[in-house]
Amino acid sequence: MPTTVSTPVNLPADEPVPFAVTEAAEQLLTAEPRTWLRRIWKGGQIVETCPAWCTDTHWNDQSGYLVDLCHGDGFQGPELSVFDAEDGMVQVPLFTGRINVDPYSSEPARNVPHVHLEPYPDQVMECLTPDEFAAVIAQLRAHCDRLDQVHARLVEARAEWQGQA
Ligand SMILES: [Zn+2]
Repeated sequence: MPTTVSTPVNLPADEPVPFAVTEAAEQLLTAEPRTWLRRIWKGGQIVETCPAWCTDTHWNDQSGYLVDLCHGDGFQGPELSVFDAEDGMVQVPLFTGRINVDPYSSEPARNVPHVHLEPYPDQVMECLTPDEFAAVIAQLRAHCDRLDQVHARLVEARAEWQGQA
């Protein structure tokens, strides 16, 4: 949750940005390891505090535009061995993604926690609400039920095939 220590001021982009740690900011910085001072391009600074679920390192977040900051927690998906015409057999991660929040975004879909889901690498379903994410999960669960039926048919088909041989 962001705590504004000083309001960013409008300075020309090429001016040096005034940067000093206030006493209040210093207390916050030492009290909480997931709190850090972030210098805002075009002026000002904020003390940024990660939500408890954020696992981002923020190594490169010591300065930047206010709106570019996001907190997140990535998750992995199953990897399937898939044949690729150029690369041969490759491991493809499916349904990976992250819970994300862009606290300073003016877009209502982004400034609350949401999910970015990558069903397939480089294919992204952006800004899913909890309901939208639940709908995707329900579709996948239903599809797994159908796959179980296909599996049963395959087992039958094999037994039949081998019985004829
Ligand atoms: Zn964070």
